[in-house]
Amino acid sequence: MNSPAAVRILPDWDAPFPESLGHAWIHGETRAFGGDPIVSVNPATGDVLGGFDDGGAEAVEAAVTAARSAFLGDWGRIGTADRAALLLGWAARIAEEVEQLAWLETLEVGRPIADAKALISQGPLLIGHYAGMIPALADRADGAVRRPRGVVGAITPWNFPTANVLIRAAPILAAGNTLVLKPSELSPRSAVLLAQLASEAGLPPGVFNVVPGAGHTTGAALAAHPGVDMIAFTGSTRTGQAIIQASASRSLKPLMMECGGKSPQLVLPDMIDQAEIWPGVFAAAFWNTGQWCAARTRLLVPKGGLDAAVEGLLAAASDWPIGDPRDPATRLGPLASRNQYDVVQRFREIARRTGRVVPLSEVPGGLSADGFYVAPELVLDTAQDGALVQQEIFGPVLTVQEYDDQDEAIRLAEDGPYGLGATVWGADRDAAERIAAGLSVGSLDVIVTPAARPGLALGTPFEPRKQSGFGIEGGLAGLAAFTAPQAITYVG
Ligand code: ADP
Repeated sequence: MNSPAAVRILPDWDAPFPESLGHAWIHGETRAFGGDPIVSVNPATGDVLGGFDDGGAEAVEAAVTAARSAFLGDWGRIGTADRAALLLGWAARIAEEVEQLAWLETLEVGRPIADAKALISQGPLLIGHYAGMIPALADRADGAVRRPRGVVGAITPWNFPTANVLIRAAPILAAGNTLVLKPSELSPRSAVLLAQLASEAGLPPGVFNVVPGAGHTTGAALAAHPGVDMIAFTGSTRTGQAIIQASASRSLKPLMMECGGKSPQLVLPDMIDQAEIWPGVFAAAFWNTGQWCAARTRLLVPKGGLDAAVEGLLAAASDWPIGDPRDPATRLGPLASRNQYDVVQRFREIARRTGRVVPLSEVPGGLSADGFYVAPELVLDTAQDGALVQQEIFGPVLTVQEYDDQDEAIRLAEDGPYGLGATVWGADRDAAERIAAGLSVGSLDVIVTPAARPGLALGTPFEPRKQSGFGIEGGLAGLAAFTAPQAITYVG
């Protein structure tokens, strides 16, 4: 069947959201579900933006049914070259609609518009990356045939609304599965638009379904649904634990979990006096106002390096203006929600009680007093076993600690519940190898020249460790994770 064209949004900040983005997208069309709508608030102003459906179990049922029939129908039978071509068509439509997607992210979660556009513009590359690897899935060198898993449920967070959906949707669809996506209740509309664009690009109805709603209703129903063959989750560790339990309540299904983080960045002695590192250290901690699961929010510097760190980060902060996210000059927008603001304020109070706080900049006057703005800050003299070092804050707070020697640096960096990422600033490759071997983290950036910055490392697989989750992401292994190997033995 034909899908309606994706809605066009006027480039006007005050334009209302298009009606269809407030409903589910199932079987290639808009489906409205009753009940109390969820109300969205603009984090930059506190203004109500509009409501959207909490589809609950009814929407999940309809979406899983649509996804199953697409899997057994058109999508399941399509050739791999055609599948890749359709995905590339979808990527091309996303490239054309970067402005609209960024507009939605800025309004819904306060992503600075320039940054939102820059990141969303990379989305088509991610889809191309997985589409390009589809032929490699057919390799039977080990005797196994890689089958798609079937109907995959994805539950995603709000911090990078488009990117988080694409990181899941691209490999899930490229591997030949169909998808039921439950986006965050803070950012449902860009997810619905992404699915509409997929339909426009010719993906058959039911291949990519979106069920907006709350976590404990719609999300929980999706996790528990026995007709879902696999769940991919990105979000907090606590919610991840609830999803693991729900997913096993009525059936058995494999899971892919990318959860919280509290990632360290270690400056080695050979770089502590290099002024060029500090803009990078700042960005690694404070990008997206610290709302980033792999944010490097624990800084470890060699003994005597504290002053250099404070001075360098104060200077770096002047390049990161806090402002209204609709302003293209803004690099640090508000926190995404009242809830997140309250969480961060609680940690800031702990910091003031238990450590030494160094504000790096101030929230400028003239911004809405009802916006959820918080300025970046450092916390010094803080205990290794305290909440500020051990717990994920998801806000602009960076702890700074000194270490005596490499062994202590490794011990401090490794001492915590999470294992997502780490950064080493240092040219000493032997030291970096030793540190890497000593850290249970999924990915490690080693910055060997002071002004260098990490880029997208799409082709390299990694797996989160400890309470940061499990399941391989990225590269061919990350694509293959959404398939199941089937051994066929011809005997006789
Ligand atoms: P955050 O705390 O950053 O908002 P969460 O981990 O709570 O992140 O949310 C990530 C995603 O998980 C969101 O889409 C949210 O709606 C969903 N979610 C929250 N609670 C549940 C739950 N009990 N079952 C399924 N999904 C949930």
